[in-house]
Amino acid sequence: MKVILLGPPGAGKGTQAARIADKLQVTRAASGDLFRDNIRNCTELGKLAKSYMDRGVLVPDDVTIRLIMGWLDAPEQAKGFVLDGFPRTVGQAEALDKGLSDKGGIDLALYIDVPKAESVRRLAGRYICRNCQRPYHETVSPPAKQGVCDKCGGEVYQRDDDRPEVVGRRLEVFFEETKPVVDYYRGLGKLKEINGEGSIEDVGNALVAALE
Ligand code: AMP
Repeated sequence: MKVILLGPPGAGKGTQAARIADKLQVTRAASGDLFRDNIRNCTELGKLAKSYMDRGVLVPDDVTIRLIMGWLDAPEQAKGFVLDGFPRTVGQAEALDKGLSDKGGIDLALYIDVPKAESVRRLAGRYICRNCQRPYHETVSPPAKQGVCDKCGGEVYQRDDDRPEVVGRRLEVFFEETKPVVDYYRGLGKLKEINGEGSIEDVGNALVAALE
């Protein structure tokens, strides 16, 4: 099963991608996490990506496509995968299709739909682990011990690009550049839309129903 998750920032893609990957017993990757790993390891790619991420705009397609297609080429992904945060432009979607053309492309695109105001509200309370990138929310799903990741003990912090001054730009970018990707998969008959406004559990159940 080759699945991609689409949705605005704060839709819950990261949380739900982990659940779906567990359920399907496949691997998963989030393009944002891969960029943040590179930033943390001070790589050239990390430096380049940071200059875009800090402004809330997309990293150029050629760089992003190379990173994700490299990940997809690894043998662990042969059984299937869940991709979170990629593709985010029609160019990336076409590159993904081309790369998977001998396997019939992706099987399903799941679009988690959340209104703008709800995205803003969720991002304002979002924190992630600096080490394993597990997401938390200060009221909905806080870590057991404040500032410490339940999973790996890493530091839980607020992402620079979750600050209100960057969030607005990220939402604009979603509607301008990524919403057309939703239409692209709708046109291919591979899209399922899920209302992302419910609890983590409710949205998770709706996603599992869509997968079945
Ligand atoms: P995310 O963690 O998915 O919210 O992504 C954080 C930031 O990483 C985005 O605002 C972009 O700057 C960059 N990014 C992540 N995925 C992509 C992508 N598929 N294409 C371009 N830029 C991306």
